[in-house]
Amino acid sequence: MNNERRVRVRFAPSPTGALHIGGVRTALYNYLFARQHGGDFILRIEDTDSQRFVPGAEDYIMQSLKWCGISIDEGINEGGPHAPYRQSERRDIYLKYALQLVQNGNAYYAFDSAEDLNKLREQAEANGQTFSYDAKVRNSLQTSLNLSEDEVNERINRGDQWVIRFKMPENENVEMDDLIRGHISINTQTLDDKVLYKSADKLPTYHLANIVDDHLMEISHVIRGEEWLPSLPLHYLLYRAFGWESTRPQFAHLPLLLKPQGQGKLSKRDGDKFGFPVFPLEWHPEDGQVAMGYREAGYLPEAFINMLALLGWNPGTEQEIFTMDDLISAFSLEHVSKSGARFNPEKAKWFNQQWLRTTDDKKLAEMIKPLHEAMGINASVERTAEAIALMKDRATFVQDYASLTERMFKRPDSYDEKSVNKFWKVDNVSKLRELRDLLAGESQIVPETTEPKVMDWIKENGYQMGQLMNTLRTAIWGISNGPSIFHICAFIGKEESLARIDQAIATLGEGK
Ligand code: GLU
Repeated sequence: MNNERRVRVRFAPSPTGALHIGGVRTALYNYLFARQHGGDFILRIEDTDSQRFVPGAEDYIMQSLKWCGISIDEGINEGGPHAPYRQSERRDIYLKYALQLVQNGNAYYAFDSAEDLNKLREQAEANGQTFSYDAKVRNSLQTSLNLSEDEVNERINRGDQWVIRFKMPENENVEMDDLIRGHISINTQTLDDKVLYKSADKLPTYHLANIVDDHLMEISHVIRGEEWLPSLPLHYLLYRAFGWESTRPQFAHLPLLLKPQGQGKLSKRDGDKFGFPVFPLEWHPEDGQVAMGYREAGYLPEAFINMLALLGWNPGTEQEIFTMDDLISAFSLEHVSKSGARFNPEKAKWFNQQWLRTTDDKKLAEMIKPLHEAMGINASVERTAEAIALMKDRATFVQDYASLTERMFKRPDSYDEKSVNKFWKVDNVSKLRELRDLLAGESQIVPETTEPKVMDWIKENGYQMGQLMNTLRTAIWGISNGPSIFHICAFIGKEESLARIDQAIATLGEGK
């Protein structure tokens, strides 16, 4: 029935804190689906629960999506034909719909106070039961199903607080379809009468606002986390109660992200517990500890997105590296799994390593510039990019390039003890002096010509190549391993190379 509709999806976070990576994945799958179908990706802020509102969360969500490369077609900043996109700014819309359901017999007023409800809960508990506001009790409580119309009006007019509750049909099987989970059937016996609207704050609850907005915003597909699956029967029934079944969106409930070890959902606290980020960007709560972010930990957004996309979706092939464009063409809800996806922090690092290899060196140079500056290095982007090229494949995180290239710009201020013990010998140092003279005779150091010349010279003299090269390396680089020594010497230049040899001899002496 929905096949011909324009694809319109929404990411509908509640600004209750930092956006967890599970939330980013939901946004990503929505985005991929929208782009693949030439549809619209909408950001709607669901902030009707004023008590859970966290300042800064909304901004955090938008910054995170931006960093990930997820662009928004309609949203709180972008505007659009269905503005406003922040539910607290749409509060005037919802009452009318709640009342429509009261009028057509699908909802009712309830006047029970919080204390009344607490008492009922306590009583039930005392009898070993749990209280549920449902068909069994609604006719005997303070509801418009039970009170006369006059009494209801009187209470409303005198300013009593009320809520509107959905009147859950009794003993009916709700037949639902999910694009990932297939057909689902639930009997309403297990469901209670959810609050849809509260007079106290003149705000709808999640369920009402979500359905009304999805309808008004012409949402074609609802792609969201598995934790919303239990709400699906109510949502189906709300579409029916409003008479909107013919345009009801299709639903897809995504699998949970699981902890790296053992069972259970990956939680916001797991990051600190296990030492890996669970948020895209660093999060600074008003009170409490700063939480790590992928960006600050040195992940590239491309790697982060690539890793997230494969948590719960597979392309059906062996391919692992995907750009956003690749993902847009390869993604499909049919290949999203029903079972939870275990988060693997090691694999996340692997994706980052892969992406660091293919990322433009100039871009990386820009990224590490502040770190270099803090180290007292003020090299140009071009020069840093050249240094990065020599260290390619050695980094796991962006910032690794700052330390990996440090000695391209600064003389060693210490020498690795193991290397010194192994290679800084009288014999090696005297040969290093000879090599210094040879290098000094070159007009400049060029790996392609200098290296063969040095090799020939070593052979002619019957010197041991490994010993001498490692001694040179220790002098120039401070440690006997690292990238090609001739490339380093070429990069730092002849004069600097000679100066580093002199400094090493002055510091370490003539060898043991
Ligand atoms: N506001 C809900 C959330 O925080 C949205 C659920 C939905 O997509 O329907 O996840």
